Amino acid sequence: MAAEREKMFECEVRRRRVKAGGGYEAFWKVKNVAVALSDSDTDFRCKDCFGQVKLLGRNSKVGTVPYVEHKLPADSEFCPSGLLFKKATDGREPKPSSHPVE
Ligand SMILES: [Zn+2]
Repeated sequence: MAAEREKMFECEVRRRRVKAGGGYEAFWKVKNVAVALSDSDTDFRCKDCFGQVKLLGRNSKVGTVPYVEHKLPADSEFCPSGLLFKKATDGREPKPSSHPVE
């Protein structure tokens, strides 16, 4: 039996923009994972709980769509996009990651 995988096809990527008054500032932008890869983005986080994510499904077979999953099971348990959260039957409330990517 294949284990059910958590697959999120959207994530946030860290971008930089010019700040008023000079210099750059970082900001996060929601993006499709495949688009982010083709744009050479390197910093990713979950768009819902801001937790760390693992990038999966790239450089593999043709027709495979890249996606991300939570690095920490604790994030998946309380993220609105998390597989464990969706499967939970205790009526729990979602909450942001306790180890968010800043
Ligand atoms: Zn999340």
